Amino acid sequence: MPVPLIALNDGTTIPQLGFGVFKVDPDETERIVTDALEVGYRHIDTAAIYGNEIGVGRAIEKSGIPRDELFVTTKLWNSDQGTQSAFDAIDLSLEKLGLGSVNLYLIHWPRADLGLYMETWTAMEQIQASGKAVSIGVSNFHIPHLEHVIAEGSVVPAIDQIELHPGLAQRPIRDFARNHGIAVEAWGPLGQGKYDLFGMRPVADAAAAHDVTPAQVVIRWHLQNGIIVFPKSNSRERMAENFDVLGFQLTGTELAAIDELDQGLRVGANPDEARF
Ligand code: NDP
Repeated sequence: MPVPLIALNDGTTIPQLGFGVFKVDPDETERIVTDALEVGYRHIDTAAIYGNEIGVGRAIEKSGIPRDELFVTTKLWNSDQGTQSAFDAIDLSLEKLGLGSVNLYLIHWPRADLGLYMETWTAMEQIQASGKAVSIGVSNFHIPHLEHVIAEGSVVPAIDQIELHPGLAQRPIRDFARNHGIAVEAWGPLGQGKYDLFGMRPVADAAAAHDVTPAQVVIRWHLQNGIIVFPKSNSRERMAENFDVLGFQLTGTELAAIDELDQGLRVGANPDEARF
């Protein structure tokens, strides 16, 4: 069964299920992304700060998969906010990836304390106009940051990539995004393994009912909620498990029970407090 495509507000589409490489060792990235591409993933989520864009690029090149069958995202790091530094940052990322353009370029964190994200967004618009990024978006933006960009920018972000898993379901941002045509991507979709999500009753029960793993249930919950998701794994076996989620459906009752797990359980930094 093919991975569903989500339509973005700029007329392009994105595969709803991909592979993330946060904390994938740069020395192992080529091998791990090669595994992911062999398993069937065609959407890779990296970032300049992960230090592994070179490995992602090598795996892509070695795979021989036509460029137009791949969706590649990278992100502008906080210290590169600003106009000229954003232009330099995308050039460096493209050089490391060995690509002429990325499918999606994101501002990694708002870092509102720097007072630069609006200027940076204007630079992102120019990067999009130059063709170096097909789509542009943001990450870790809360509603006030999105409102600011929508009010003062020329382009509405195609995507907001935020921490999102059953313990932190982010309903207000998801509702706001839906109302403004912004697609939502989940980072830490499995809670980064930092709390016992897989042992929680609604997840474990649904896994038993469908004869699948708890991780597959959680990925299904994201997909059936219209969220774009790219779980990370170093293990080829778990990569394959996480990709094998298109052959079953959670019921409305199961989805509702998982929704009940939302308790503001943040496993990463709060974007309003992040100072890195
Ligand atoms: P995830 O929620 O994807 O969790 C990854 C962890 O879960 C790893 O420890 C992995 O271990 C484990 N795991 C993966 N699959 C399974 C499975 N089937 N069963 C049991 N354990 C499993 O966390 P990430 O933080 O990696 O989020 C996904 C992606 O989101 C990132 O890789 C990155 O691309 C992006 N991201 C973006 C951020 C942002 O600020 N914009 C911040 C953080 C992430 P193992 O490798 O051993 O399988």
